Amino acid sequence: MTETAEVVVVGGGVIGLSVARELRRAGAGRVVVLEKAPAVGQGSSSRAAGGVRAQFTTRINVEFSMHSIGELERLERDTGLLSFWQTGYLLMTGTEAGERSLAEACALQRSLGVATRWMDATEVLALAPFVRQDGLRAGTFHHRDGFLDPHGVVAAMRADAGRLGVEILTGVDVTAIARRRDGGFDATAGGQSVQARWVVNAAGPEAARVAALLHVDLPVAPVRRNLAFVREPVGAALPGLDGLIPMTVDLDTGVLVRREVSGGFVIAWSDPDDPPSWDVSLDPRFLEALGERVGHRFPFLEELPVDPRQCWAGLYPETPDHHAIVGAPPEAPGFVQCAGFGGHGVMHAPAAGRAVAELITLGHCETFDLHPLRPSRFEEGDLVIETAVL
Ligand SMILES: Cc1cc2nc3c(=O)[nH]c(=O)nc-3n(C[C@H](O)[C@H](O)[C@H](O)COP(=O)(O)OP(=O)(O)OC[C@H]3O[C@@H](n4cnc5c(N)ncnc54)[C@H](O)[C@@H]3O)c2cc1C
Repeated sequence: MTETAEVVVVGGGVIGLSVARELRRAGAGRVVVLEKAPAVGQGSSSRAAGGVRAQFTTRINVEFSMHSIGELERLERDTGLLSFWQTGYLLMTGTEAGERSLAEACALQRSLGVATRWMDATEVLALAPFVRQDGLRAGTFHHRDGFLDPHGVVAAMRADAGRLGVEILTGVDVTAIARRRDGGFDATAGGQSVQARWVVNAAGPEAARVAALLHVDLPVAPVRRNLAFVREPVGAALPGLDGLIPMTVDLDTGVLVRREVSGGFVIAWSDPDDPPSWDVSLDPRFLEALGERVGHRFPFLEELPVDPRQCWAGLYPETPDHHAIVGAPPEAPGFVQCAGFGGHGVMHAPAAGRAVAELITLGHCETFDLHPLRPSRFEEGDLVIETAVL
């Protein structure tokens, strides 16, 4: 059976749903999302920690964040589904080089209108009295950062997409995409085929496989990332810890800690040397590595037991420069890539959706300068690296 749509979106994760929703908001015609899993949002989007921050080191990432934070605040007000806790992100360092990088990032963010606050060690300790103070030099804090429930974002996006007339087909694995003579595409999934003027590749960690269906070489690799959960002792107060805390990042080790609303702590650490892998089981080496690092700024966590049954892992859709890929490659006009969001796909989903919707409905993106995200940058060897990778 063949159907016709204006846009086919491959992948019903947070990115694909956001793209579909924004396309309809921007006035696109029929939009169909094809998702191979039995339900949307079951890929990387279901494994995320839910961190949201404007504290990046490149203009495009800061701009994606600021646009997205506004939209996530609005979605939370309208739907109440996001559990968006704007505790702020507090980044800190005890090294001279770390302080220099933090100061540069803070200046960039402030130049783009982000109210990032520079803090000396005393101010950092006033906000986070639970951290080890030895050698601490400086930190930055942005109060609109925080964390939310990624499932809530998927639910809100899905509901809005449905209300706007997006059609979502689940259990359909796109196995072929063919170019038509009229410039459009035939996307084949199972026994059905959808003809479309545009195809958007929002297949997350599998985006390279989907791109390859049209012989496009897309450098998006799956990289396993792990999260640990630590329970709090019932009834025993932890010194300096009263209520929620900022998303607290020790930049010198890369360890990030947050307190859950229901108690306990989520701890993240990303090993920059992890090779690509499809494995989503918890990596036991992660717990070892965390054990060696967590006490550097979070001594109270060294005393608390980690229960591996409450830890989990998932895949970052990674690119070599830690920036997403947004746009159609020169060799495949109409085949729009929207993938490679690494550890910031949930928080950047609203901006990603807006960018693709403008590319398709206006022919160019008005809200953002997408040049740093263009697919051809790898071939051109013109990369700008995001260094605030957590
Ligand atoms: C441990 C961990 C912690 C993270 N923490 C954060 C965080 O704090 N903040 C943040 O913003 N991000 C975080 N992320 C990153 C975030 O989860 C991802 O960047 C984001 O979910 C990517 O969304 P996506 O829609 O591109 O991918 P996915 O959610 O994986 O969606 C892609 C979809 O495409 C479908 N698909 C693939 N191939 C096909 C095909 N051929 N046909 C049909 N469907 C197909 C898949 O089934 C999948 O549902 C984290 C990730 C992990 C693993």
